[in-house]
Amino acid sequence: MDTNISLKYIGYARKSSEDNKERQAASLPEQLYEIERLKTKENLHLVEVLQESKTAHKPGREIFGAMLKRIESGEANAIIVWHPNRLARNPIDAGWVIYLMDEGKLIEVKTPARSFYNTPTDKFMLSLEFGISKKDSDDKSEVVSRGLEKKCRDGWRPGVAPQGYFNDRQTESGFRKVLPDPERLPFIRKMFELFREGTTVMELYLMAKNEWGYRSRQKRRSGGGPLSLSMIYKILSNPFYYGKFEYPEKSGVWWKGSHEPAISEELFNEVQVLLGRRGKYTLQHHEYAFTSLLKCGFCGATITAEEKHQVICTACKWKFSITKKNKDTCTRCDTKIENMRNPTILHYTYYRCKRRTSRLCHQKGVRLDRLEQQIDAKLAEIEISPVFMDWALRQIAAMNESEKDFQEDTVASIKGAHDACRAKLNNLIQLKISPQNTDGSLLSDEQYRSQKSAIETELKGLEQQLGTIDNRMVQAAEDINEAFTFATKVRERFANGDAKLKRRILMDLGSHLTLTDRTLRLDSPPYLFTLKKMKSEAPIIGEMFAPNKESDRIRKMEAKYASIPTLLRGLESHQV
Ligand SMILES: [Zn+2]
Ligand SMILES: [Zn+2]
Repeated sequence: MDTNISLKYIGYARKSSEDNKERQAASLPEQLYEIERLKTKENLHLVEVLQESKTAHKPGREIFGAMLKRIESGEANAIIVWHPNRLARNPIDAGWVIYLMDEGKLIEVKTPARSFYNTPTDKFMLSLEFGISKKDSDDKSEVVSRGLEKKCRDGWRPGVAPQGYFNDRQTESGFRKVLPDPERLPFIRKMFELFREGTTVMELYLMAKNEWGYRSRQKRRSGGGPLSLSMIYKILSNPFYYGKFEYPEKSGVWWKGSHEPAISEELFNEVQVLLGRRGKYTLQHHEYAFTSLLKCGFCGATITAEEKHQVICTACKWKFSITKKNKDTCTRCDTKIENMRNPTILHYTYYRCKRRTSRLCHQKGVRLDRLEQQIDAKLAEIEISPVFMDWALRQIAAMNESEKDFQEDTVASIKGAHDACRAKLNNLIQLKISPQNTDGSLLSDEQYRSQKSAIETELKGLEQQLGTIDNRMVQAAEDINEAFTFATKVRERFANGDAKLKRRILMDLGSHLTLTDRTLRLDSPPYLFTLKKMKSEAPIIGEMFAPNKESDRIRKMEAKYASIPTLLRGLESHQV
């Protein structure tokens, strides 16, 4: 991150007069001075400096909101502030800032003390700096937070373990894990399952207290009692149970837990639908593979991911969507979801144009599984078998071998010219310093200088020629290798990959990715285009089988490849 060329900063200064917690903050002119100073010192591209006199403890600051919208639209991608707590002191604004970092829209938050980038560590530090965590500004907080941050990164949630788990006390402090409580965790799991099947929270409460005899873990000063109704609600809506946690709380920073999960993410999401809480956890879904990668082919806006939940009414069999307006009732017969026994809940991810929500664009969204089918079809066009890759790389190496002979001749002749040139330079110097030339009668200073510079230019030219020959060979070999490695078993890798891998594969597959009428379009890079052409002419290069077991088959395949003389045309190094 040492390049400032592409960063466009907005300076933001804020001081609230009515907020007495802000007495330690620098005055507005002081903050503005610091922003100017940083700009000049680091030669930053500063788009504008904004200032505001409002408290940040409540969301809804106008100028702040307008600034983030400008960043969202790409007008700027970095912020300079005197201290992060100028930006946010409430979880909603903090979440917005961190969300923009996640989306890649906000690249840096710069303060006089340090910069924050889109890394888990920086976002964690940033959320601490926003002052949302209670552990404010005593001297220890820096040390404490670094320790906690490491703990989070390792997947261990700091603080008292939620119901069904306990904090390991045997291990040295700082390395303590969160362990499943075998006496209680099965009951927690049961609660999710029963609730999903239609048991009400009140019934769960009575069941846990009377039938199961569930009591929370005894601690020094608390615990040992039955679960309250509100504790059961809290359990049912805590993502910790499927393996994720937010720390510091309400910061918008999510971590993948290393603890043993109690339930699946799917079950958790279904329970959230039943609780009418869908949408509450939107920030945790950072794992959409293709967000911001595609553009709407109709209006050019970004394609974004959206979760959709649908419920099939148990009373009238009507399928309806859960929306912001309707979270809990069948839209046909008005039956409440909480009164349905074990309703079918459907869950889809859609990719759709961002402008669709504002009705500026009427392009419909495409379901994730259908988008992936389209990507798979495109991958099928370029996928090659490992057997073909082995064979082709061997063939190309052999072709390059003969090419190399030719190149070695070229290299030898350039080297010869280079040696001759050096000798000429030597002679020139000898002549200049010879005793017969003390008066410059053989070679004047002027002549010497002009001849020397001519020879040196020639030398440099020859050296450059040598360099490009070597580079060209290495580069071409690397390009082919990379294309083949990408195209081998790529469908399998895509199908089984996590969000990150899927995203990378799509990015490698092409550029200018657009979605028009639910259809994906893209431009293939040249090397994949060559592969596509090869494959359309010789489909056998994609045929897969287990290579280890069938050496006979491999030989047959290789013979088939070899029988197509034009197959590798265009892949020899000197033509790439
Ligand atoms: Zn659109
Ligand atoms: Zn109904």
